Amino acid sequence: MKVSVNMASCKISGEQGRSFTNWATTFTCKPELYFEPTTTEEIIQILKEARRLSKRVKVCGYGHSPSDIACTDGYMIDMRRFNQLIDINEKNCTVKVQSGCLLKDLIDDVLEPHGMAMQNIAAISEVTIAGMICTGTHGTGANYGIISTQVLEIELITAAGKEVICSHTENTDLFRAACCSLGALGVITAVTLQCEPAFKLHQRQWPGTLDEVLDNLDEHIASSEHFKFSLMPHTESVLMSRMDRTKEPVSDVSSWFWSTFVGYHCVQFAYWLSSFFPSTVGFINRTLFYLLFSKPLERINISRKVFNFDCFFPQYVTDWAIPREHTATVLRELRAWLRENPNQAAHFWIEVRFCRSDNIMISPAYGRDTCFINILVYRPYGKFIPYANYWAAYENIVKRVGGRPHWAKAHKETAKEFSHMYPEFNKFCEIRQKMDPQGMFLNAYLERVLCMDSQQA
Ligand SMILES: Cc1cc2nc3c(=O)[nH]c(=O)nc-3n(C[C@H](O)[C@H](O)[C@H](O)COP(=O)(O)OP(=O)(O)OC[C@H]3O[C@@H](n4cnc5c(N)ncnc54)[C@H](O)[C@@H]3O)c2cc1C
Repeated sequence: MKVSVNMASCKISGEQGRSFTNWATTFTCKPELYFEPTTTEEIIQILKEARRLSKRVKVCGYGHSPSDIACTDGYMIDMRRFNQLIDINEKNCTVKVQSGCLLKDLIDDVLEPHGMAMQNIAAISEVTIAGMICTGTHGTGANYGIISTQVLEIELITAAGKEVICSHTENTDLFRAACCSLGALGVITAVTLQCEPAFKLHQRQWPGTLDEVLDNLDEHIASSEHFKFSLMPHTESVLMSRMDRTKEPVSDVSSWFWSTFVGYHCVQFAYWLSSFFPSTVGFINRTLFYLLFSKPLERINISRKVFNFDCFFPQYVTDWAIPREHTATVLRELRAWLRENPNQAAHFWIEVRFCRSDNIMISPAYGRDTCFINILVYRPYGKFIPYANYWAAYENIVKRVGGRPHWAKAHKETAKEFSHMYPEFNKFCEIRQKMDPQGMFLNAYLERVLCMDSQQA
């Protein structure tokens, strides 16, 4: 059922009874009203109505966050129809878009035809520009920051319905907060991004062992613009990957296995089967590695196609940022724990990526060159596979070296812990309080991670 919200100039309907579920189907909620605005006036109107009735408001993008970060039982504003191009400047290589624009559409339909590209992106492009920025989404490349470091300007609407602009030169503290804001500062309406001329990437992938890569980690990282490696859990095997800009022509036959029905279902079926015989996970992982990744592979393609990779089917996932110099210690400890726990379902991959330090207030890479280590357990055919022990062991290891969890991915940390993890955490909270004194943009997740009071209560 649609419920209309009226204002003198415009009218927008919110839907009742619609539920929101994230991509991994691990979190779901039933907002009181679900809105899909297409204009700024409509957003201002929804916020006005929410203020009048003391409702909470949560903005969502594509719901790809593997946590309850986007959930609410108040008003939900789905920004996916707020997705127009505002301006493109080929000379300066910048683009300004409405915040609900899908990254994939921006790259393929706007940037590519204008001979431009994003400097660096994450594993998937099925995310909104604002969703990606709000959660500190990252790709890999030791000289590249998290994706928010490509942002030049952000426009947002505060809880009071005021439109505010921030950038490197205007409202600079607000800008350093808004570049990773968890959606807590207001509704982001427009984002200007620094791009670069379109480029192709030459990817070289080759197998090795964990010790080989860890013993020469600095050389590996320095050897490529976008280096990463993936560890096959319960084995010594890693797949190393270098991605570098090239002018060579496209040549890419690498995805034949993954793009087939057989590839997708073989992996899913094998992991589903292993849920009845947990001790077989190691064998499955070794076999997969031998069959699929034991030979070097090269390909050249346009940047998005190489940066993005297949994340298969729904999964539980956690991703922590640690100071880069602790990479070897953490991975060796995690390997030791997996050796002692051969029955733990630890699925591929343990993904290891690198980012340079930044000054965004609550960016996981704040103030330090960073290594992100992402671990996961799939949900083959939707089946629950126990992961709590694996997570607890991993978190124990990363927390000892100053780890910070990825904001979008499920974790149990609270404001108290974050106040020790982030030197400017209190400043971020002060800005949030100023932007949203009534807590209109809070939800259960944000109360947990941002509000000390909610934990004392
Ligand atoms: C398969 C898969 C692969 C992934 N790979 C990576 C990866 O390689 N690297 C990485 O770092 N992350 C990765 N992620 C996480 C993903 O990048 C983030 O969860 C991202 O936020 C998803 O964008 P979204 O549009 O779905 O946002 P949502 O999940 O819908 O929302 C995320 C947050 O943004 C806020 N928000 C959204 N739009 C606005 C707005 N306009 N104004 C204010 N707040 C807003 C929401 O309130 C919420 O707090 C992956 C996730 C999946 C499912």
